[in-house]
Amino acid sequence: MTEPVVLISALEHFVYCERQCALIHCDGVWIDNAHTVRGARAHRRVDSGKHRRERGVLTLRSIPLWSEKLGLSGRADTVEILDGAVYPVEHKSGTRHGRAADFQVCAQAMCLEEMLHTSIPAAFVWYGGPRRRQQVPLTAELRADVEAAVTAIRAQMVLGELPAAPADERCEECQLEPHCLPHVTSTANDLARRVAAQLTA
Ligand code: SF4
Repeated sequence: MTEPVVLISALEHFVYCERQCALIHCDGVWIDNAHTVRGARAHRRVDSGKHRRERGVLTLRSIPLWSEKLGLSGRADTVEILDGAVYPVEHKSGTRHGRAADFQVCAQAMCLEEMLHTSIPAAFVWYGGPRRRQQVPLTAELRADVEAAVTAIRAQMVLGELPAAPADERCEECQLEPHCLPHVTSTANDLARRVAAQLTA
């Protein structure tokens, strides 16, 4: 059986919430909220595909990426080339939320390394909230974490299992909350666990 290809964007969803990743990438659920609409608006420029050169930096926009080795595919918002060095820059409209964007940009760099036979020691994430660009060192640990996440996402896709809802503060900003109903499903799961424990006691 051919292994399913994992989308680079799934890494962001997986790191945020494993259930969110399964709902989007296995069940095909998508609901826009204020955050996703703002993000889509902010991406219009990078999605334009127009390249530019400024102060010696060539900026390529909306570049398709893939990795045969990792079974990954997706698109880089921007890839910059300066003095022969190549590095991806991921664009986020808001502020930093944990390591989600680090995983995404690291996966982009790993694809570029395979495609271009080069090595990329660091990548960048631009956060539109503070209007700051943050460097992401592509350490062995981050690369291993990305590979482990890709393997876990692929397992989700093959097995089709929906992880339990964590029902914590992440749900307040999650666009899938109306579909996921985290507090209802976590209570139901908890009840089912208690009944099972009673029956096996
Ligand atoms: S509502 Fe909460 S549990 Fe459900 S997908 Fe979103 S973050 Fe995950």
